[in-house]
Amino acid sequence: MRDPNCIFCRIAAGEIPSATVYEDMDFRAILDLGPASCGHTLILPKDHFRDLTELPDETAAKVLPLARRIGTTLKDALGAAGFNVVQNNGEAAGQTVPHFHVHLIPRYEGDENIVSWTPGELSEADRDMILEKVAKAL
Ligand code: AMP
Ligand code: ZN
Repeated sequence: MRDPNCIFCRIAAGEIPSATVYEDMDFRAILDLGPASCGHTLILPKDHFRDLTELPDETAAKVLPLARRIGTTLKDALGAAGFNVVQNNGEAAGQTVPHFHVHLIPRYEGDENIVSWTPGELSEADRDMILEKVAKAL
């Protein structure tokens, strides 16, 4: 199902032109207009799902093999040394377009603009609290 007000729905449907590197029945993969690196690509499902929490299992099962295929090809074809697979869920997590998408970001030797965070420490109290709440809920 498509959302007529969603830009990624319109791009995925081909209504808005995009630099498409791959397309099949379920997905379109396009170059990101604000790339983190040369070859930064987005995989968009053609149907509208806000984020991973809404993605049907059937679609989800196709995403990782496609990310591997396109990511490997980007790396080999562009001479990258590796690639990141990034997928943001919710504004708090940095999602700016509320249509599920996967970022494939080729990484080059000496690349400094990498996905990173400052590691903290797992306290015993946090560990116990998380295990209590999360493991029980799964
Ligand atoms: P996110 O922050 O995970 O929601 O990622 C959204 C991404 O979409 C950003 O990297 C933007 O640069 C990219 N983007 C937004 N609009 C377009 C567009 N019309 N065509 C291609 N990429 C876009
Ligand atoms: Zn959409």
